[in-house]
Amino acid sequence: MTGAPQLVDLAVIGSGSGNSIPDERLADRSIAIFEEGVYGGTCLNVGCIPTKMFVYAADVAATVAESARYGVDGTLTGVRWSEIVDRVFSRIDPISAGGKRYRVEDCENITVYDAHVRFDGREGDRYRLVTDDAVVLASEVVIAAGARSMVPEPIADSGVRYYTNNDVMRLPELPGRVAILGSGYIAAEFAHVFSSLGSQVTVIARSGALLRAMDADVSSRFTQVASEQWDVRLNETIVGALDLGADGVRLSCADGTHIDADILLVATGRTPNGDRLNLDSIGITLTEDGRVPTDVHGRTPARGVWALGDVSSPYQLKHVANHEQRVVQHNLVAGWDGALQSIDHRYVPFAVFTHPQIASVGLTEEQVREQGLDATVKVQAYGDVAYGWAMEDTTGFCKVIAERGTGRLLGVHIMGPQASTVIQPAIQAMSFGLRADAMARGQYWIHPAMPEVLENALLGLEL
Ligand SMILES: Cc1cc2nc3c(=O)[nH]c(=O)nc-3n(C[C@H](O)[C@H](O)[C@H](O)COP(=O)(O)OP(=O)(O)OC[C@H]3O[C@@H](n4cnc5c(N)ncnc54)[C@H](O)[C@@H]3O)c2cc1C
Repeated sequence: MTGAPQLVDLAVIGSGSGNSIPDERLADRSIAIFEEGVYGGTCLNVGCIPTKMFVYAADVAATVAESARYGVDGTLTGVRWSEIVDRVFSRIDPISAGGKRYRVEDCENITVYDAHVRFDGREGDRYRLVTDDAVVLASEVVIAAGARSMVPEPIADSGVRYYTNNDVMRLPELPGRVAILGSGYIAAEFAHVFSSLGSQVTVIARSGALLRAMDADVSSRFTQVASEQWDVRLNETIVGALDLGADGVRLSCADGTHIDADILLVATGRTPNGDRLNLDSIGITLTEDGRVPTDVHGRTPARGVWALGDVSSPYQLKHVANHEQRVVQHNLVAGWDGALQSIDHRYVPFAVFTHPQIASVGLTEEQVREQGLDATVKVQAYGDVAYGWAMEDTTGFCKVIAERGTGRLLGVHIMGPQASTVIQPAIQAMSFGLRADAMARGQYWIHPAMPEVLENALLGLEL
């Protein structure tokens, strides 16, 4: 280690949502930002944004491929993969570089450390943070260290080349055959991307359904639709993996069969990075599911240490990380014992940008039943509203769950075109306590736009 320790008022670990912590309200504090990877974090570099840029290209390709049913004879003659990659990263890489440059060159109160950092106990009333060649002593710390891909055995130990979201979007060529290990939203999005752009896709799920955490109607309908698009292997356990050199990889299944592919993409979930921070040294024990524990204000059990985003949140979503960042930022200014804001996890929505799109907010029907709520449920098919006719949709639906009597919306689950947009009025209604019937009849719904599927679902509730 070299040099004297740097004393700072605040240290931020992670440059994803953590990078937005320093603003003019903290301009009088000395701040260290630690980033061991690419500046800007997961969403910008290897998550939400690049994946959705690929998804958009995939949606365009799928539209062409499916055009005949509208009486339009389009033929998808090919995709220029490397141009898609260039389009995505020539937009993103400069934003990442520019974000870092701004912090390094234009923010006098900020020092950026390109390094992995970990806690090393306390020194006086400060936290001691160490990298391989520096020591920083910080009065307060924001842990915004995110999460990383989990790679299950036997893949992790097999020595075969595998990809994750970190590198699969920079492949030099579109692979002919892609095996995707996992059944969650990242697997579903990449399956759509590769399949619609022309790869043969095999999705390997350990359980009996895809998107298992979602409402059972969504999970089962999506599993069915997915199986018509991709080779979906359910209840499949991989017991070994073999490098076939130029021929790719061979995965051995527990049932004695095997799956060959040019590339293997691992998308089996993400584990929070708190386990790599030596938090024991400052008296923080991770939760059972590996998160840094916080209260509703973002305070960890160690006084002066805050946490936000994937490293601590029960929701690994960018809009949640950003919300938590804004709350923690306010609370840093207010002071540990000051007038603190609270994190709001009441109605956290999310979308899966696969084919078809999926969006969800609130309780699933199973959760509603478990909680013993007196609920009414309406499932409205896309195919029964005008825009659904226009799109010849045969699989989409909007499922609305509300409490009888109070009219309170409990959950909304949508699978179908534009689901991530169609759901937004429901998120608003739930967040502001609007009754389902008031929502349905208290406003105009543009005719014949896609949100009519939500309107009709609301009208079908027996409140
Ligand atoms: C493929 C994919 C698609 C996604 N799509 C969506 C989507 O469509 N919508 C959505 O809402 N969410 C999506 N997400 C999730 C979203 O990206 C995350 O929830 C969000 O980026 C989390 O932000 P964060 O600030 O908590 O962590 P991150 O953005 O991951 O930032 C944490 C940073 O900390 C750094 N770090 C970690 N440990 C250390 C250390 N010890 N020292 C120094 N640096 C460290 C990491 O290198 C990282 O850059 C997606 C994620 C993936 C992987």
